[in-house]
Amino acid sequence: MGSWVEAALDHRLAPWLLALVLAGLAEWRLGRHPATRPAADRWWLGIGLWAIGSLALAAWPTSLPAASGALAALPDVAQAGLVFVLADGLHYGVHRLMHAVPWLWRIHRVHHADADYDIATALRFHPLEWLLSAAPVLVVAVWLGPTAQAMAWAFGAVVVWNVVQHMGLARIRPLECRLGPWLLTPALHREHHARTASGGTGNYGLLLAFWDRLFDTWQPPVEGTVVGVHDWRHGDDLLANLLSPVASDQAAGMTGEAPPR
Ligand SMILES: [Zn+2]
Repeated sequence: MGSWVEAALDHRLAPWLLALVLAGLAEWRLGRHPATRPAADRWWLGIGLWAIGSLALAAWPTSLPAASGALAALPDVAQAGLVFVLADGLHYGVHRLMHAVPWLWRIHRVHHADADYDIATALRFHPLEWLLSAAPVLVVAVWLGPTAQAMAWAFGAVVVWNVVQHMGLARIRPLECRLGPWLLTPALHREHHARTASGGTGNYGLLLAFWDRLFDTWQPPVEGTVVGVHDWRHGDDLLANLLSPVASDQAAGMTGEAPPR
């Protein structure tokens, strides 16, 4: 009982690494936005935050009783799809809260503070956010009790799309324009990272655009959107980013800035 939690956490590494390699190749082949920060600094910060976040995730209990066996009659693929869709909706809600609640924004802004946007951004989450971001899938799993295989697939899909969504492609591709009303492609999520006054106010979902369209937060992508957080003074320093949620507004350089919604 409860082995699905362990399976999900154990199986996330291989698809995630494969997605990083393939997405990196795609960025290289299709062209990237010009970098404004040293790539090595951003990657070391991302790897450091990911490593600490992984240690934090290991603290999740690996044996949780399911509240029901509601999915038991379905094949693993259908179970995984259902878990993913429901977790996608929960992710939308958690993500909106991260932008609306000041203390959650202080955690989430570490991710938004990246002055560039590419697959290195997919690693740049505060360890507390790694914990929060795993919660929607685990909540759905406790609720419905999917098989270990279904859970592994659902969790794998989450980590893979997180990488895909952060691909830093230089131009908005025609395929993205066609998929945009249905899926939150890299260009749509880049719009969520916008630093401009008019941007960064929508596209909170993970994979499905459905939730953003339902709650009227879907935004079309704009070519050349500038990303990042105004006046971020912590740069790409690991310790400073780790401590930023509890640093004073003055030290964090965020004085007077309301969280982008
Ligand atoms: Zn966000």
